Amino acid sequence: MKRAGFLLICVFEMMCLGLMAQAPKVDRQVAVTIDDLPSGMADKLPAADITALTAKLLGTLRDQKIPVVGFVNEKKLYKPGQVDERIKALQMWLDYGFELGNHTYAHSSLNQVGLKAWEEDVIRGETVTNMLMATHKMKMRYLRHPYLDTGRDLQTRREAEAFLTQRGYRIAPITLDGWDWMFAGLYEDAKARNDTDLQQKIVKEYLSYHDAVFAYDEQLSVKVVGYEPKQILLLHASNLEADHIGELMDVLRKHGYRFITLGDALEDPAYSLPDTYVGEEGTGWLDHWAITQGKIPQGAPKFPEWVIQRARELHQSTGQVSAEPTQ
Ligand SMILES: [Zn+2]
Repeated sequence: MKRAGFLLICVFEMMCLGLMAQAPKVDRQVAVTIDDLPSGMADKLPAADITALTAKLLGTLRDQKIPVVGFVNEKKLYKPGQVDERIKALQMWLDYGFELGNHTYAHSSLNQVGLKAWEEDVIRGETVTNMLMATHKMKMRYLRHPYLDTGRDLQTRREAEAFLTQRGYRIAPITLDGWDWMFAGLYEDAKARNDTDLQQKIVKEYLSYHDAVFAYDEQLSVKVVGYEPKQILLLHASNLEADHIGELMDVLRKHGYRFITLGDALEDPAYSLPDTYVGEEGTGWLDHWAITQGKIPQGAPKFPEWVIQRARELHQSTGQVSAEPTQ
């Protein structure tokens, strides 16, 4: 009996080892980036609200020791009587120990405004932010393309890249994107109307959609890159993130991610893969690499229809929430 029991344990252990060999634990890593600073809703929100949401957002990220780069649109600073407070909200990012990057002055699409105007918008977007960063002995080193629009033809794309390199920028790609800005617009409206039921419904959907997007992108990574590279997540500065980013970070933790800096993520060789993507619609870098390889990404989780519908209705009734991508 003893011997049989020992054998059973051996067989069981071998099975376990076999299973482990088949499914090695992936060391998932992610860098978090937040766009449209000081806030995607800066046109609608008073400076005091922007300060409050910034403090809440950064407080959570600092408590959880999550490194973040925030990408600025300086145009959002210029509201009569509020400029100083809006600049202070930006300053908070640096005071809390985070880094700032350039997202152009006016959130211009390279695909829409053309190369020359876009380059001017990049330069114009440096004024205040680089002044703030100089007090921390830093200088902006990352640029995020508004709408992820990297050029509708390869010549424009390459010329813009050469311009950015010459100006000391590294492009900040993204690989994980759950369209949080789309949920954020609805959340803002529900919050303003004190509709807590709707807020909860939006948050639940935002978390589960991101969960599905992460799972999809992990599989797409293996198909396109051959492994899961150090991922880069795109989020936007909003009350939704200020109130719930901790729960979203928990979703990442459940997937096994640990948090790294954008600089660390960019050391992954994946970010040097051939990339000749051009198109009217900006998209993430997993799509760039897939399309460059002649693969058509398929099976992406469907964005919840009721969120699109509600955003459209809200846009029509109040003009408050854009039904078009604002990332
Ligand atoms: Zn943006």
